[in-house]
Amino acid sequence: MKVLIRYGAYPIVLTLGVLGHLWCLRMGLSLPVATYIPIVLGALLIMGFEWMAPFRCSWGPDMAALRQDAIFMVVVQGMLPLFLSFAVSLTLLEGLHLQGEMGWSLWPHYWPVVAQMGLMMVLADGLRYGLHRVAHEWRPLWRFHAVHHSPHILYWLNVGRFHPVDKGVQFLFDSLPFLILGIGEEVLAFYMVCYALNGFFQHCNIDVRLGWLNYVISGPELHRWHHSKWPEESNHNYGNNLIVWDLVFGTWYLPQGRMVEELGLINRAYPMTFFEQVAVPCTSEAEPQTTVGL
Ligand SMILES: [Zn+2]
Repeated sequence: MKVLIRYGAYPIVLTLGVLGHLWCLRMGLSLPVATYIPIVLGALLIMGFEWMAPFRCSWGPDMAALRQDAIFMVVVQGMLPLFLSFAVSLTLLEGLHLQGEMGWSLWPHYWPVVAQMGLMMVLADGLRYGLHRVAHEWRPLWRFHAVHHSPHILYWLNVGRFHPVDKGVQFLFDSLPFLILGIGEEVLAFYMVCYALNGFFQHCNIDVRLGWLNYVISGPELHRWHHSKWPEESNHNYGNNLIVWDLVFGTWYLPQGRMVEELGLINRAYPMTFFEQVAVPCTSEAEPQTTVGL
């Protein structure tokens, strides 16, 4: 069973997620329901795989971490994007849908949905690559992004641990351009299913081997190094869904013959609760990568 999970977990979760999404649509369920059902079931499947074949037994979260990650997931990954999408559609989209009114469009709406989703993923990942790299190399943005790097363990739910400012800036790069282009909601829903499942998987504590897929997708074997405590290791593998932009710009990193060691920030006294982490980028005491403020 462990061998099956090691090599099959990622294709199983992604394939079932996509098929589940298509099946829900075929059954006549609304687009949001058909999007969230495979995401929730995929998360449950990943939890089961983590339990059966953990990469590190010591990475099991305690109740305090689970509670905080759940708050981040609901507030930052659930409510904030909904609010931002709503705000955008109310204030911007009407004015920016000039293309439709003028009878032309930059986006290839006539392509099959799967091809449009692939194009969106490549482009969104390119934008997110640039943003993510700046977030590591430019101190003002790093102070917000450090929240995502604060956990000392990796498991599926801490994909949601982002500062609201960091998440809001990400929205400007990976969603807003496509909303402005008037991308179809069925393309966006398909993208969301893959994006969410890949995000859970990227942070999961499952002992997987992706082989050649480590040159295509940004999976857990690569992403663990991105969460290393040491910047010379963590300033690599910025890819969100795909790893192709890291290959293009020379930041792909997967050492052979050794495993990642400590995760998190150098400052081991960095605060860990939701409300503390929302406030900490604006205070001078807790420097993420030094022991200042200890
Ligand atoms: Zn990062």
